[in-house]
Amino acid sequence: MYDVIIIGGGPAGLASALTLGRALKTTLVIDNDNPRNKVTEHSHAFLTQDGVTPSTLRQNAQHDVDKYADVERLNDTVIDIKKIEQYFEVQTLNSTFKARKIMICTGLKQQLPHIDGIEACYGKSVFYCPWCDGYELKDQSLIVSVPSEHITFMAKLVSNWVSDIIMNPSDDNHLTQEDIKYLQNKNIQLINGKIKRFEHDNGQLSRVIFEDGKTITRSAGLVGIELDSHFEFLTSLNLKRADDDSIDIDEFGETSVKGVFVAGESSTIRPSQLIDAASSGNNIAKFVAMQIIDEDDIE
Ligand SMILES: Cc1cc2nc3c(=O)[nH]c(=O)nc-3n(C[C@H](O)[C@H](O)[C@H](O)COP(=O)(O)OP(=O)(O)OC[C@H]3O[C@@H](n4cnc5c(N)ncnc54)[C@H](O)[C@@H]3O)c2cc1C
Repeated sequence: MYDVIIIGGGPAGLASALTLGRALKTTLVIDNDNPRNKVTEHSHAFLTQDGVTPSTLRQNAQHDVDKYADVERLNDTVIDIKKIEQYFEVQTLNSTFKARKIMICTGLKQQLPHIDGIEACYGKSVFYCPWCDGYELKDQSLIVSVPSEHITFMAKLVSNWVSDIIMNPSDDNHLTQEDIKYLQNKNIQLINGKIKRFEHDNGQLSRVIFEDGKTITRSAGLVGIELDSHFEFLTSLNLKRADDDSIDIDEFGETSVKGVFVAGESSTIRPSQLIDAASSGNNIAKFVAMQIIDEDDIE
């Protein structure tokens, strides 16, 4: 029986493991090596690791964690978790494990917009997060395709970096007069209509083709993506959801099922950054360790 099983070995999971290992808690990290940022070539904005590849950042973090005798890491996929009296049973594709506490650090599931060619461009010349990639996009000709309700916000944010921007509402909803006036005042071009295809050369965007046949030349894009935390392996736990559909947690990251905690991007349905996820893992792992210390103190 482990003290803690962490599901997900990204920055949230590995920072949690580091804290738990240093707190002498036996910890198993189960990860299937499929983080959202796998497609991108460089990770930005993580102190001491700015510009490294996502896999280098992960290997460096694994190296830190592997120094601690109480931490084990396993490459496997968790398919179910059951609460059995005072402990949890974690079922993977290949085995079953037991733990007193569970940390969910699986990030978020993402759905890209239905645009031909987007998979090849995503992470190379098309992104979603200006804070992660805006600096690298500053000299590009940009298409920003997001739902109408985010048009003004994204125009304001992205024009911090980029001067050549075309905004495209990705849904059929109409922009308000205020939205249109805002874009006009900033000299930002607006193109309505659904995007059919991103033409590209090995992931490098060259042209954007709309469903009505309109074609524009662009070298990079920012798109709105859909995110959720409805992982199938959580079904048996039947965790309570908050109003915004994220997993309902208290200020210590604990869910409606006592002993199950969430850290990193999985704790919201909004995208965050690597350093936020690592910070969250470090923070929540202390509460997990403290709960174990408290319980052992009473026994
Ligand atoms: C294209 C792109 C570019 C980005 N660029 C940057 C950047 O430059 N800088 C930055 O700070 N952030 C960037 N991000 C955001 C960053 O990737 C996330 O903020 C961060 O990865 C969240 O960390 P996490 O540990 O919560 O989740 P993740 O890093 O997603 O890790 C979750 C882990 O859980 C594993 N997992 C999921 N389900 C299971 C299961 N059932 N069983 C076992 N393992 C499972 C996954 O394989 C994964 O390894 C980018 C994201 C994308 C999509």
